Amino acid sequence: MTINAAGATPAFATRQVHAGQSPDPATGARITPVYLSAGFVFDDLEAAKAAFEGRGGYSYTRVGNPTLTSLERKLADLEGGVDAVVVASGQAAVADALLAILRDGDHLVAARSIYSGSRSLFVEVFARFGIAVTFVDDSSGLDAWREAIRPQTRALFAESISNPRNEVLDVRGVADIAHAHGLPLVVDSTLATPYLVRPLDHGADIVVHSTSKFITGNGSALGGVIVDGGRFPWADHADLHPQFSTPGAAGTTFVDRNGPAAYAQYTRDVIVQRLGPTLSPSNAFVVQQGLETLSLRMERHSQTALAVARWLETHPAVDRVDYSGLDSSPYHALADEYLPRGAGSVFAVRLHGGLEAARALHDNVAVISRMTHLGDVRSLVLHPATTTHGSLTADERDALGIDDGVLRLSIGLEDAADIIADLEQALEHVPAADSTGRAVFAGARA
Ligand SMILES: *Cc1c(COP(=O)(O)O)cnc(C)c1O
Repeated sequence: MTINAAGATPAFATRQVHAGQSPDPATGARITPVYLSAGFVFDDLEAAKAAFEGRGGYSYTRVGNPTLTSLERKLADLEGGVDAVVVASGQAAVADALLAILRDGDHLVAARSIYSGSRSLFVEVFARFGIAVTFVDDSSGLDAWREAIRPQTRALFAESISNPRNEVLDVRGVADIAHAHGLPLVVDSTLATPYLVRPLDHGADIVVHSTSKFITGNGSALGGVIVDGGRFPWADHADLHPQFSTPGAAGTTFVDRNGPAAYAQYTRDVIVQRLGPTLSPSNAFVVQQGLETLSLRMERHSQTALAVARWLETHPAVDRVDYSGLDSSPYHALADEYLPRGAGSVFAVRLHGGLEAARALHDNVAVISRMTHLGDVRSLVLHPATTTHGSLTADERDALGIDDGVLRLSIGLEDAADIIADLEQALEHVPAADSTGRAVFAGARA
């Protein structure tokens, strides 16, 4: 965004409203309109040529569209990047961000705690294209990241806050390891949003989001984005990442033409345009509307989640609450360092009574919705072991700390007291003893 009249860079709350948006040049409309047009007219042959050579003007919505450009500018600004590419979903953002870097024979190192859809993408799809992956069990163990790197490794991938256990990434620590090997760090920051942490400020090179979650915030539209930090020295590591420094038909490279935005432009022109996951301008408009209130929502989400997590921690049916905002969390120090504005609103609660206890809480909530989504204005609950993590073996689930007693909560924007009252009445349905008659927790309803 252009600097304000006083010459200072405006604060986040101002930029989330104004960045990337100026009144529509044709009509003066204050909000960027939904340009639902597949194509754009060329004034003459020279204009058509210029559009096709990427020298200005729109041609076809899969290549670019003013509604999408406006959202890309706002998201790049809020993340502190040089450019952004919006796509149809978070899943497309993860896939395309990495396919711009990886090819047949390459290797990726990823945190084991990543979103289950990303995990399946790597082990079921990337594997078929000859791209191998190694998972790091404990993302806060920096030695494990270092040891997982091979000569074929081309990228490191992790989430700034993981789901469901709310683990916080040591972005700087992992970025330093990546850079020492000539590799970019790609961070999925869906659960944090740029309001809680900007991974690029801490050394990450590329940030991706599912905008379907907190960024839109109202649970109404899917979307995704890839943000280029613009600082990774691709040309210095052309042996590892030749695609950005290899001359094309015109004799120039992406680094020559796009400088610090070489990665973003390559991703847009070569990967997204060819694979085709174009974001609908209608969805972009909905994402844009949500984004304008992001800071207010994230503040409240985080405050309410902390209140709910603190209350749950004291309940006798509860064994453990995994929320980095709590003093009891092993990630509390990392949260203090990276998440001073709050730890988000998605966390896990483990009940003493295993599956039957989880089922009782899950099936008896009334304010909270049973849904596989997160970052919604509505509070949501999900049982990972039978849903998102249902295709894993019991050992794999154990490695992630996700057993039958674990529920995921995504705390919404309802009143904190109403959410707590809902959990309290649902927890009254949790049996005090298991099927053998053994007491599961003290002080429960008889
Ligand atoms: C939901 C999610 C995705 C996938 O996003 P979609 O928009 O559902 O395709 C990727 N990463 C994380 C962390 C997510 O929560």
